[in-house]
Amino acid sequence: MPVFFCWHCYGDNPSAAGICRHCGRQIAPPEHTSYVDKLLWALDHPLIERRMVAARVLGTRGEQRAVPALQRLVAQKEDPFLAAEALQSLVRIVGVQALEGELRRLAEAGDAPLRRVARRVLAHSSPGPKEA
Ligand SMILES: [Zn+2]
Repeated sequence: MPVFFCWHCYGDNPSAAGICRHCGRQIAPPEHTSYVDKLLWALDHPLIERRMVAARVLGTRGEQRAVPALQRLVAQKEDPFLAAEALQSLVRIVGVQALEGELRRLAEAGDAPLRRVARRVLAHSSPGPKEA
């Protein structure tokens, strides 16, 4: 049986529309909700695969509004693969230089998936300006 998640509280419901059985608001997103807003919403989706896909697509689109949520996903400890996906998207959006300190830290001390991403990104980035 399919499960639908409430736009407002992410509670599970048996139908895609109507009143949420958890919070009493509309299950469906408001009528004119943009694709990007739906992707941003999906960064907190109860199903981790949906968060992974949203993180990847937002990164591909270079969506600046996703930066705070992606930073939060990089920092969470629940799923290092999700954190790694979020890190790749953050790099696509803000660039290697803006994240260099964080990338160096993760390349040494991050969980294995984060470490792999950080090392690969640092290895493929062109060297920045020489340090004084
Ligand atoms: Zn709800």
